[in-house]
Amino acid sequence: MQRRLFLGSMLGAAAAGLPLARALAAANAPVAGDVPATRLGGGETVLSRSAVQDFRASLRGPLLMAGQDGYDRARQVWNGMIDRRPALIARCTGATDVARSVQFARANDLLVAVRSGGHSTSGQSVCDGGLMIDLADMRGVRVDPRARRARVPGGCLLGELDREAQFFGLATTAGTVSHTGAAGLTLGGGFGRLGRRFGLTCDNLVSVDVVTAGGDVVRASNDENRELFWGLRGGGGNFGIATSFEYRLHEVSPTILGGPIIFPFARAREVLDFFVEFTARAPDELNLDCAIVAPPGGKPMVILEVCYSGDLARGEKVIAPVRSFTKPLADQVKAMPYLQLQSGGDEANAAGRNYYVKSGFVEAPDPKLFDAMLAGFSPAAGRSTVMLLQQLGGAIGRVRPDATAFNHRQARFDLLVLGGWEDPAQTPEHTAWIRDFWRGLEGYTRGYYFNTTIGDSQEKVRANFGANYPRLVKLKDRYDPGNLFRLNANVQPT
Ligand SMILES: Cc1cc2nc3c(=O)[nH]c(=O)nc-3n(C[C@H](O)[C@H](O)[C@H](O)COP(=O)(O)OP(=O)(O)OC[C@H]3O[C@@H](n4cnc5c(N)ncnc54)[C@H](O)[C@@H]3O)c2cc1C
Repeated sequence: MQRRLFLGSMLGAAAAGLPLARALAAANAPVAGDVPATRLGGGETVLSRSAVQDFRASLRGPLLMAGQDGYDRARQVWNGMIDRRPALIARCTGATDVARSVQFARANDLLVAVRSGGHSTSGQSVCDGGLMIDLADMRGVRVDPRARRARVPGGCLLGELDREAQFFGLATTAGTVSHTGAAGLTLGGGFGRLGRRFGLTCDNLVSVDVVTAGGDVVRASNDENRELFWGLRGGGGNFGIATSFEYRLHEVSPTILGGPIIFPFARAREVLDFFVEFTARAPDELNLDCAIVAPPGGKPMVILEVCYSGDLARGEKVIAPVRSFTKPLADQVKAMPYLQLQSGGDEANAAGRNYYVKSGFVEAPDPKLFDAMLAGFSPAAGRSTVMLLQQLGGAIGRVRPDATAFNHRQARFDLLVLGGWEDPAQTPEHTAWIRDFWRGLEGYTRGYYFNTTIGDSQEKVRANFGANYPRLVKLKDRYDPGNLFRLNANVQPT
C-alpha cells in the first residue's frame, strides 16, 4: 500500500494529466460501494465494499471497475465483436498480483477470465461480471544469447520476443502476427514460419512459472512438475496462469528470403495443386502458406507466402519452382528482415474490427476439398475474406502425439476461413456465411486447433484432445479440481 501511494504521488507530481497518472489516481480512489459480480458457476453475487478495498490494497497493479479511467480500454480484446464487462479487472504486475487475484476469486467464488495478448477470437480472455486477471502489463523479454534462452513474462506479445531474440541473430517459433500474445499462443501449441524447423512454440519451452488454482506459484519443466509441463504444452489455460515462459532459441539469420507471390483467382486450382505437391517434399527451412483473399467488395486473388529461413543462395534454388510453375500477377519475394515478414500482417489483422473464424486440420488433402473451397468462396461488400492453408509438418510432425498435450502432429495444414468487417450491423450476415461455407469444408478436416476454435460442445473438445484427454483430466483433477480456469477449451475435472 505504501509503495502504491508513493508511486501515485510521484507520478502525480511528475505527470499530472497523463493517462497513466489518471488511471492510477482512479484506481486508488475509495471503492464507492458493494460490487455486483458473477459466480464461477453462473448466478449473481455481491462483493462487499471492504472486501474489494482489501483486495485492491493487496495488489501492486491497479484494480479497475466500471466507470474508472482505463476500465474500458482494459476490457477490450482483439475481436471488436466481444463486448464484455467484468466486475473487476486486476492489472497484475507480477506473479504475486496473479496469486492474490486467484486467491480472491476462490474466496469469493468468482468467475475468472485470464488475459495476456487478448487475441482469443471467441473472447475467452474477458467475461461478464467476473474477475479479469489481466497480465498485459507484465512485459520485458530478456535474452541470454550464450545459453540461447529467452525469458518472457506472461503479458508479452510475440513481436517483443522476435525483436529481442533477433538482436542476437536468434529466434524461436512464433506466430505470424506480431501483436498476438505469447502466453495464449504457446499454451495452445503455437504455429509459425519457423515451426517446420524447430517445432511448435510449445516444443521450444524449457520451463514455465505457473500460479495454480490453489494460489501457489510453481515451476514446470522436464525436471520439476513434469506432468504439469506436459499438460501446459497444448492444454491451454486449464491448469493455471502462466506468469513467465522460458524458451529455447535457435540461430536464425535476421535476413530471410520471404514475401508473397500473387496469382489471379482464375489460376487458383492450378496453384492449390502445385502447393500441395510441392510442400510434400519441401525442406524444413521453407515455410509456404497459401491464402485466397478478397478485400471488401474486391476481386479475390491467391497468394503463396514464402519464408525461407536457411542459407539464402540455397533458398533461391529451393523456391525457383514456386516462382516459375505458372505466371503470377506479382512476385514480391526478396531477401528481407525476418522481423519485417513477422509484422507484415499486423495491419491487415488490426485489433478492434469484428472477426469470425472457423478452422480445421487437413491431413491428406482431398481434391474435393479444393472443389468445395473454390466453389464456395464468395467475397462480400464490407468484409475482408481470407481462406488460409497454413503449412505444418517438418519438426512439428516428428514429435509423438502423446509427447505433449498438443496431439495433432500428423496434420499437413491448418485450414482457416476468416472474415473481418467494420460495421457491427453486418455481423449476422457475415457470421452466417462463414458458418455455412465451413459446413461444406469441415468434412475434409480432421480435428481443429484450439487456439482458433474453442469447440462448441464438450464432446468436441474431448474428441479433439483425442487419446490425451484422460491424462489431461487427471491433471485437471490435481491442479484445478474446482474448474476455476474454465474459459478455455475446457478439460472438465471429474
Ligand atoms: C490475428 C491473429 C493471428 C494469429 N496467428 C497465429 C499464428 O500464426 N499461430 C498460432 O499458433 N496462432 C495464431 N493465432 C491464434 C492465437 O494463438 C490465439 O488467439 C492465442 O490464444 C492468443 O493468445 P493471447 O495471449 O493473445 O490470447 P488471450 O485472448 O489473452 O488468451 C487466450 C486464451 O488463453 C488463456 N490464457 C491467456 N494467457 C494465459 C496465461 N498467462 N496463463 C494461462 N492461460 C492464459 C486465456 O484464458 C484464453 O483462454 C492468431 C490469432 C490472431 C487473432
